[in-house]
Amino acid sequence: MKIAVIGAGVVGSLIARNLTRYKDVDVEIFEKLPDVGWGVTKANSGVIHAGYDDEPETVRAKYCAHGNALYTKLSEELGFPLKRTGSLVVAFNQEDIKILEELVDYGKKNGVEGLKILSKYESLEKEPNLSREVVASLWAPSTGIVGPWEVAQSVVENAVKNGAKLHLSTEIKSLRALPFDFVINASGLWADELAKSAGVKVTPLHPRKGEYILLDQPQLVKTVVFPVPSKAGKGILVLPTIHDTLLLGPTSEDLPPDYKERTETTIEGLAKIVENARKLVPSINLSKSIRTFAGLRPENELKDFVIVKDDKMVNIVATRSPGLTSAPAIAEDVALWVADIKKLKLRSDFDPYRKPIPRPYEMEDDERNALIKKEPAFGRVICRCNKVTEGEVVEAIRRGARTLDGVKLRTTAMFGRCQGSFCTVNIMKIMKKELGEEFEEMEKNLLGSQVVDGVSR
Ligand SMILES: Cc1cc2nc3c(=O)[nH]c(=O)nc-3n(C[C@H](O)[C@H](O)[C@H](O)COP(=O)(O)OP(=O)(O)OC[C@H]3O[C@@H](n4cnc5c(N)ncnc54)[C@H](O)[C@@H]3O)c2cc1C
Repeated sequence: MKIAVIGAGVVGSLIARNLTRYKDVDVEIFEKLPDVGWGVTKANSGVIHAGYDDEPETVRAKYCAHGNALYTKLSEELGFPLKRTGSLVVAFNQEDIKILEELVDYGKKNGVEGLKILSKYESLEKEPNLSREVVASLWAPSTGIVGPWEVAQSVVENAVKNGAKLHLSTEIKSLRALPFDFVINASGLWADELAKSAGVKVTPLHPRKGEYILLDQPQLVKTVVFPVPSKAGKGILVLPTIHDTLLLGPTSEDLPPDYKERTETTIEGLAKIVENARKLVPSINLSKSIRTFAGLRPENELKDFVIVKDDKMVNIVATRSPGLTSAPAIAEDVALWVADIKKLKLRSDFDPYRKPIPRPYEMEDDERNALIKKEPAFGRVICRCNKVTEGEVVEAIRRGARTLDGVKLRTTAMFGRCQGSFCTVNIMKIMKKELGEEFEEMEKNLLGSQVVDGVSR
């Protein structure tokens, strides 16, 4: 049976991998961008939410806490980093404390374990850099952080290892004409339009922009710090990233439906982030800022995921937050639906494991020395900020990176404080050797994004 999965974001990737568990199934993944995980999955907070702030009875609540739990096994099988940092929702007055109590109630209904309201003293003990104005906080131990694009990359690598075919830079214009026995529409911001192309009616999507500031201020917080949520969402957070930087954001701005690629940041948005983040953690130091960026949430009027299943197709629409967290649970559910309706049987030779790219900087001396003896390229550091070696860059290219951002998002080279000022040229030399491309041909990310006009020889 032939199954098409449209979209290699975290949702489509996980569904594709789950479908490769079955016998006699050919899974093909279609992604319009030149790499996987470059849509909504690329620019978000990277938080694996505990699941206490989704109103019980919503589709979000059904998937969030379960998705959170599934991440532990996924990270062990696929070798992407996951840190269970825990989170604090910070209350500044009695009204806020009432909201914390409501969240505890939601959490209980949603099956979230370990929630506890902490006193001012206990809150400051957990996060010494919190504002002294804090009066209480909600502690959620199951909250975690990941690099969201790394989840998609590792999942797709494993799906391909199990037989899936990946078609990058391939846009599907309409679902109706696809010659497949079953179609999964997991196309993020465009899922409403593709559903419509197959005659499936869903509430239309519009982008809700979230701007961020990334800082080189590691360890300022160790947990994910939230304000109390409001109707506009979870609010502006202060959190550590999985790569040991500090992230502030996101804002929440509804944009018109045709602004699905408008990811520019604004002075107003950035000012709002600083003002709100400093209410939580006053000692944020903007001179340590590395870069700003924005992501777009696929939002609908219902403020909830919409999953429409029939015997030929599943459309997954409005994958807003907490879609990253919920994705493994959505994927489990969708694959079981397809297996049930198409009477699929599990295969015995599915291999759930994928080895991460070796990371000498994080190894013990003995392990690192043994690796360098075997492969000397893992001893040559080419990115000084994040201590990335030539061996890691070569491995990233061999695993599918074809652009500078493809290397960056697989290795963290060009991702540190200097943002590639030092290492970009060295990486281009390695790409030239591995791929046989000239400097003038190499792209940063999208088609036409060459970084070099010409080379003086
Ligand atoms: C600002 C912000 C903060 C967030 N924070 C969190 C968080 O902390 N925790 C959390 O759980 N969730 C969070 N989310 C939500 C989470 O990022 C999304 O739910 C998730 O990434 C959605 O994944 P997806 O696979 O549905 O979409 P995408 O990642 O967009 O994947 C869809 C893919 O389909 C491709 N595509 C589209 N149309 C076509 C076509 N016609 N043909 C071929 N390919 C196509 C796109 O290029 C894209 O790569 C946040 C979102 C944003 C924007």
